[in-house]
Amino acid sequence: MGASLNAIAHLSTSGKGGHVEPSIGTRFLVFPQPPYVAGYEKPEVVWLAASVGGILAGPSDKYMYVADPVESKRPYAYPTLPPYAGGLRPPAEPGPDGHFDHILPGSPAFLSAHSYACARRVLDICEGYVGREIKWFFAPSRSRLEIIPHIVDWDNAQSGFGFLELGESEPGKSTACFALNFDSIAHEMGHLVLLSELGLLQGDGSGTDFFAYHEAIADFTSLLGLLHFDTAIDRILRRTGGDLLINNELDRFAELSDEKQIRSFNNSLRIGDVSEEVHDRSKPFAAALFDCLVEVYQTILFDRGLSDLDPRRFSDLRRQMPLELIEAGLNRSRPDYESRHFASKAALQEARDIVGQCVVRSWTHLEPDRLTFEAAAEALLEEADRGRSRPYMDQFEDCMKWREIL
Ligand SMILES: [Zn+2]
Repeated sequence: MGASLNAIAHLSTSGKGGHVEPSIGTRFLVFPQPPYVAGYEKPEVVWLAASVGGILAGPSDKYMYVADPVESKRPYAYPTLPPYAGGLRPPAEPGPDGHFDHILPGSPAFLSAHSYACARRVLDICEGYVGREIKWFFAPSRSRLEIIPHIVDWDNAQSGFGFLELGESEPGKSTACFALNFDSIAHEMGHLVLLSELGLLQGDGSGTDFFAYHEAIADFTSLLGLLHFDTAIDRILRRTGGDLLINNELDRFAELSDEKQIRSFNNSLRIGDVSEEVHDRSKPFAAALFDCLVEVYQTILFDRGLSDLDPRRFSDLRRQMPLELIEAGLNRSRPDYESRHFASKAALQEARDIVGQCVVRSWTHLEPDRLTFEAAAEALLEEADRGRSRPYMDQFEDCMKWREIL
């Protein structure tokens, strides 16, 4: 006991006076939503995983680095690919303590630090779900991902063979700056991680849902990333009084949410309702994953005595939920919720990880050239049959059936 207390005392003092403490990760400031979204004006301190070799000026590490061109660069398009060969602005430098959270919004290096931290955070989360290191699909011809934090006069973000680039349609304006948008960066990282884990198409993808599935997973990755921020979870739960089920069933998130990720998942679209356009076609599957997450969350709440509503009682909640339950859920007072907030938060984090892990690990059961939404749903169920997601398998199946995916 004495020894471990000494160790703690040693650790807590070693952070002071400019000593580097590299072994437990590196601090950055990250906006969970762009700072113009109400409630998200302040960035959160985020710890990025300790990586081999540490996080150096750039920022840069073994997997990715930021390159901030001096000249206005054009977006990459084949055959022009990284590394960027032109002149670069000074890199974001760590403080004397090895951390980057001294770089404040508005300072010249902030976009570099922020875009790196968002990308690296999503990779940390996905590697946690896979349970090992993720190898880039563009390795070994490119070993690291190049992040370009701003491309002037370009209103887009894109990722591809070894790059992630972020546009800035009006310089200096936060609404026009993709590097400040965790949602967009996480979406692109979702594509890169999925390409790396699932693999590339051999054919042109016709007759498959490969591209639409990519969009669904990219969006869901962005949601999983958002739900790793305290600001987001606290706001979502307090706003809904902890009742995600009723708000989801009534498609009420759309009016309640400031978070774009939540709004886009909250819909009643089935496969028969959408066009063949990839973003449109991705919506029912992405929404089904969100339904799964809400189902697991509410089931955990019920099992722990934190809610009276057992989602397993209804196979089709949207049609079967009695009006009294809906009204009781919507009218529940907020002070009543506060006493359950931390327990509800733990349940939501657990549900997020149960579904997140299932989705990410389901990719090992899929073949890019034979990928349909039906196959993806079956792979999810196959993966759910293992470990801690097994109790929710029937609910996952119901969610997929409701969306006409199975
Ligand atoms: Zn996309």
